[in-house]
Amino acid sequence: MPILFASAALLVGPAWCSHLCYIGAWDDMASRRGPTPARPLSKRWIIGGRASTLVIACGGALAMRLLGTPVELAVTLAAIFGLAGIGVMLFLSRRLGAMVHCATFCPMGLVGNILGRLTPWRMHLGQDRCTRCGVCARACRYGALTPQEIEAGRPGLSCTLCGDCVAACPHAAMRYHARGLAPDAARATFMVLAAALHAVFLGVARM
Ligand code: SF4
Ligand code: SF4
Repeated sequence: MPILFASAALLVGPAWCSHLCYIGAWDDMASRRGPTPARPLSKRWIIGGRASTLVIACGGALAMRLLGTPVELAVTLAAIFGLAGIGVMLFLSRRLGAMVHCATFCPMGLVGNILGRLTPWRMHLGQDRCTRCGVCARACRYGALTPQEIEAGRPGLSCTLCGDCVAACPHAAMRYHARGLAPDAARATFMVLAAALHAVFLGVARM
């Protein structure tokens, strides 16, 4: 699992959350039962919430290793952490219509966002076409398109390259971007890469 995650994050960055992670698919289903547009997510939680769970998950695992914690107790604590995430989906994502689990709770999402800076894939908002209508922000369920981020021409750190804003923008201002590629080629290449990774993951799971 760590190898699959690291290779995916280094190839498609935060698209792990929106295209590959099955827990992300659960959060997607939960958020779609909530209001549209989604309620805005606090930037403090998008960074601070996931940084906290990252420290708890990594620090806890290291501490248990050093302390020689029995396997049964370690598995129980891991299950509690996982169940807390499911609770976030059921009670917060459904209520807010936003991907609260992926954007504010899951530590792997934050790692994917950070490693994504090493990949060529970005969302680019063409300032020449954008009318600041805000339709893309209403389509984004990861809290990545505040008015300030639209003004700056790029989504925030919680963007997972899901592409919902691309389909929603009535002026074709939001596009996939990779240096050296035209927007359509960047989108096609990115999708092929994500689909290929998906196939590899299914193959590995089958083994
Ligand atoms: S939907 Fe398109 S035009 Fe409207 S704010 Fe977003 S990028 Fe700009
Ligand atoms: S691709 Fe667009 S809709 Fe999806 S997370 Fe990024 S900014 Fe939001």
